[in-house]
This record gives sequence, C-alpha cells and structure tokens, in this order.
Amino acid sequence: MTHPADGTHLELDEAWSAETVAVQAGRPVRVGGAPMNAAITMTSTYVHDAAIEYGRDGNPGWVALETALGALDGGRAVTFASGLAAATAIASLVPAGGTVALSTSTYFGVRNIFDRMEKDGRLRIRLAPADDTAAVLAAADGADMVWMESIANPLMVVADIPAIAAGARERGAISVVDATFATPLRQRPLEMGADIVLHSATKFIGGHSDLLVGAAICADDAHAEYLRVYRHDHGAVPGNLEAFLALRGLRTLAVRLDRSEASAAELARRLATHPGVSRVYYPGLPGDPQHERALRVLPDGCGSMLSFEVAGTVAQTEAFLSRLRLLTHATSLGGVESLIERRARYAGDAALVGATLCRLSVGIEGVEDLWADLNGALRAALA
Ligand SMILES: *Cc1c(COP(=O)(O)O)cnc(C)c1O
Repeated sequence: MTHPADGTHLELDEAWSAETVAVQAGRPVRVGGAPMNAAITMTSTYVHDAAIEYGRDGNPGWVALETALGALDGGRAVTFASGLAAATAIASLVPAGGTVALSTSTYFGVRNIFDRMEKDGRLRIRLAPADDTAAVLAAADGADMVWMESIANPLMVVADIPAIAAGARERGAISVVDATFATPLRQRPLEMGADIVLHSATKFIGGHSDLLVGAAICADDAHAEYLRVYRHDHGAVPGNLEAFLALRGLRTLAVRLDRSEASAAELARRLATHPGVSRVYYPGLPGDPQHERALRVLPDGCGSMLSFEVAGTVAQTEAFLSRLRLLTHATSLGGVESLIERRARYAGDAALVGATLCRLSVGIEGVEDLWADLNGALRAALA
C-alpha cells in the first residue's frame, strides 16, 4: 500500500497561500490533454500485479483528496468513510491499558467511541476543559493521547493548541486536534505542534450537506501508515464519489467560509443585544471568554459556527425553531445552507449546555435574510 501520489499530481508552489492550495492541490499533472480534475474511479478491484489490487487498498480519487488535504494541513492525509471512522482509527493508537486526556467539550460521537473503549476495559479517560490549559496538561500527565477539539462543540470553546501540543509532547503523549469547525483555512494544528488533525469533511470541506467523509492528517509518516493499514483492515474506506465531491467542495471552501464567517460575526453581534437572547457564544465577539485565546490561535477568523441561549422556556425555544422559514432545523453543519438546532435534545449535550441553547451553522445566504428570519421567529415565539 504505497502512496501513489508522487509525480501524478500538480506540483505546488511553496509560496502559495492556503486559499490557492485549496484550489490547486490534488489536480493531475498539467500535460497536454490531461483532465482538470482527478477522475472518479468506480472500481472494487484492479488488475494484478500492483501495489493496489483491491478497493480497500486504495483509489486514485482518495489519493487526490489526500494530496490536497495533506498539502493544506502540512502532513500526510488518510481519508475515511466518515469523520467518526477517522476518529475510531486514531483512537486505536492508544495502547491497550492506556489513557486518553479528553476535553469535556468533545463531539458526542467521538466521546461515544472513547466511552465504549473505556467500558470494554481498553483504556481510561481523563476529562479536562479544553480552555483550561493547566487542567488539560494535568490530565495529560502519564497519558498516551491528548484529544482536543478546537473550535469545540457546542459552546465554541477554543484550546491553546501550541501550549497543549508542546506539553503533550514533553509528557510523551500524542496530541490530536479535531479541527472540523475551524477548517484548514483558519487553523493548522500540525504547524502548532500537534501530531494529528482530524476533519469531518462531511462539514465545511464538503460544504454542501451531500456526503460523509473523514480525514486524519498526520505529522508523522508512521502514524499515517498505521491509519492506512487500519482503514484497509477495518474497511471504513471513503466512497469514491464522496471523495470526488469532498475535493470539489474544498475548491470553494475559501469563498464559502469568508462569506459565512462574515455573516456569523454579524449575526453574533446582533444576537448579543437581542432581547430574546440571553447569551451568545462566538469566539470572534470581543468580550467572549474565548476571544483572547482566539486572537492568538485563530488569527484569520473564528469560522461560521455560533451558539446562543434563547431567553425563554424550552417550549418557546421549540416554537422559535418551528417558526423559522429560511434556516432549517436540522443537525450537522458547514453546508452552504444555514442550519440550527437545540442541542440539549441530545443526551450527550444535555448535561453540558442550557436547555434553550441553539447552535447555528451559518451558510452563505444573504445575511439580512438570515437576520429577518431569526429576529422575526424570536420575537413571535417570545411575544
Ligand atoms: C460531525 C463531526 C464529527 C464526525 O464526523 P462524521 O463525518 O459525521 O462522522 C467529528 N467531529 C466534529 C467536530 C463534527 O462536527
């Protein structure tokens, strides 16, 4: 299972910005008649005798996506059937009987993976709030892995990745960052010293709510090789069409994110003074408890996810959600369309968040249309 990327993809200029890399990386080499895009190779098997013989060994479409994601984050990418498939593979790097330091604000699907492993006696979990660096490092003492999510679900907690990654390294622990919310255009954890970055490409990278793909990008080739073997042996391979669509999505990530982030910042500002809202969580807002750290680790922007508490009852919050005409009441995030949901309806989040907390994934619609919808539904529901 060698990596057939070498020589088959467009060479990138070291000086190019991440926005340019997102557009150009993973394209076929530019020779006469070459297609602009890597083909969708729909096959389950390959003619003997080569490094790749079966559909679980590899696919040129995955390699194109991995070339692009690896170039963006500055490491070796391995793609999976979903973000959670990638997370499962990364979690298995913790040795039997080992310990993982996990942030309290971890995507509940990832939390489930580790909870199950702990229940099975496979490892031990130590929890610490991601924005309390001293607590994370205390939990990292003697641990084998430190798992951060930053920007994190659902309260937009920001971790001091450089400090935690350095501390983890001193303690001999692998550091992993789930950077799904930040995307490689806002935060590149490997450059900040982390060992592995996880993206649910289902979200911003895919960008159109039409696929599931996950990716692990590793600083260390040995980790990447381990994950490739794990993927082969466990079978959670990305679909070939999905890999193509994820790369297609990546091409427009920069413009989608610029737009949705500007709208998110504007909506956060307006919601913060809305009588129907008791609290807004957006690290880009001056005064947000995460803001100072965000200026350091997210200097280019805080993305397009925000949460807010409705100043009312659960019933009023549900009424607000059902009155929305433009925003869709649905889970997931990172698509061109704005989605909103009340997080406490999930058992995994109910203990962490207020009952009226709504998480908003801002899309690329007109910001005044989004505001009119939010403002109108809030006023009607709270009247
Ligand atoms: C969605 C999500 C995941 C899981 O990814 P899937 O592609 O849905 O399996 C992991 N982490 C975060 C932060 C997510 O939002």
